[in-house]
Amino acid sequence: MSHTLTVPAPPAPSQAAAGPVDTAAVEDCVRQLLRALGQDTDRPGLLETPARVARFWAEFLGHEPGSTGTVFEHTVQGEDCVAVGGIRTASMCEHHLLPFTVEVSVAYRPDGQVLGLSKIVRIVEQHAHALQLQERLTAQVAEEVARLTGSQAVAVWAVGEHQCMTVRGVRAHGARTATEYLLPALACDALLTERLRRAAAMTGASR
Ligand SMILES: [Zn+2]
Repeated sequence: MSHTLTVPAPPAPSQAAAGPVDTAAVEDCVRQLLRALGQDTDRPGLLETPARVARFWAEFLGHEPGSTGTVFEHTVQGEDCVAVGGIRTASMCEHHLLPFTVEVSVAYRPDGQVLGLSKIVRIVEQHAHALQLQERLTAQVAEEVARLTGSQAVAVWAVGEHQCMTVRGVRAHGARTATEYLLPALACDALLTERLRRAAAMTGASR
């Protein structure tokens, strides 16, 4: 016996803002999925599973209000860099709906303004809580830091471990994926990139 699942078309641009989570519909879909997987959804262990999974998705994709504020004026005579490393979070691979854990480092050269340090962590969290690709997450965090600080010298590194590589396909346990994103203005400035890289290395985080 075969089952046909109707797969809705993906939203056109992959970064399209997601709508609210329809918890009741998710619950229903999970129940159908379990049945399609040949499971008895009335057995005690699975009875509450659809509701639990629906609550998870609502929580995971629940959006905080967009990024605003929390920048401070900052003028110095010399040259400075700011780096925050070791930001660990979890995201969800949009190709397989399997989680990946990721450690992110952000470094930038302030251009008259600095960002609240915890805001940097929040930016990473916000962009991680989505159906994502590590490559895009890395770029989005950099673009957001640039947008809020007005600095064009922003670099972001991420090291991820993807369950879609460990529990399926190549089953490459322990394989890690590193991504780097430099804003275009940085890409041709090797010296400044190196300074940001050194600042990020000082946090002791893996890059
Ligand atoms: Zn994947």
